[in-house]
Amino acid sequence: MRASVCQAGRRRPSPILRALAVGLLVLTATAACGAGSGPDREARIVVSTDILGDVVAAMVGDRAEVEVVMPRGASPHEFSPSARQAVAMREADALIVNGWGFEAGLDDTVDAARRAGVNVFEAVSAVRPQGGAPHDPHFFTDPARMVQAVTAIAAHLRSTVPALRTAAFGAAARSYQRRLEGADAEVERILAVVPARRRVLVTDHEVFGYFAERYDFRVVGTVIPNLSTSSEPSARGLADLAEAIRAERVPAIFASTSAPARLARRLAATAGVSVRVVGLFSESLGPEGSAGATYLGMVVANAQRIAAALA
Ligand SMILES: [Zn+2]
Repeated sequence: MRASVCQAGRRRPSPILRALAVGLLVLTATAACGAGSGPDREARIVVSTDILGDVVAAMVGDRAEVEVVMPRGASPHEFSPSARQAVAMREADALIVNGWGFEAGLDDTVDAARRAGVNVFEAVSAVRPQGGAPHDPHFFTDPARMVQAVTAIAAHLRSTVPALRTAAFGAAARSYQRRLEGADAEVERILAVVPARRRVLVTDHEVFGYFAERYDFRVVGTVIPNLSTSSEPSARGLADLAEAIRAERVPAIFASTSAPARLARRLAATAGVSVRVVGLFSESLGPEGSAGATYLGMVVANAQRIAAALA
């Protein structure tokens, strides 16, 4: 059981690391993943979402095992874990989640892990709350907020995973924080072409509040008027939003690449004006090799798409 748990969703190490790992396996079977729960067992960090999984793996590297529960491109508000993943979460040395209902389908499993004594860390509770919307869980749309989360995650991992109480891990965490700060500055540069009056966002659900606050945009409306992607808007709600789109001369609606853009297209048709539907990596990472394959990549790619649609 452990060996299979250990494989699922695990970050793939580089070819050189894989070769080294194969060598170690030949030398000593106990170094293998799934060696049991003895004192030499490699620490296992389980992360709920693919976005936070990428961020944690970038800092941790091969210093501990990082298992990501949601597959790349999953719809995070709807995803439910398998029984095997629930076991992995319950047996984790550290469990890192986004929090505030972002991974609603995992809430019961996270609660069960917490009751079993797992150290659960909720990333959103480590960041400065968004003004006016205190329970929007999509903090990661603002890379400056991610710096705050990463600082707290690194401190949490040092306190829960002995293998990470090293100068090397501290340096890796600081280095990643600097890359996040670089991405924040790059996003600001990319968005500089969008004049103030065109800094308006219409999105599929309430997802870009933190982004709007950070980069001086206004959220004119959302197709689904809440924080989830699963409910349906009313006909009246769509008509009101269509009116706002016409009044504000909004040229584009932004929809998550991981959720169907059906509703956004219906709205574009209802608005009766020329409105493009532009896909953003707003909920989860893009496929391997795509611009949104990493958190840093998705932040920059989203800014480029927003700038191109609104400038
Ligand atoms: Zn969402």
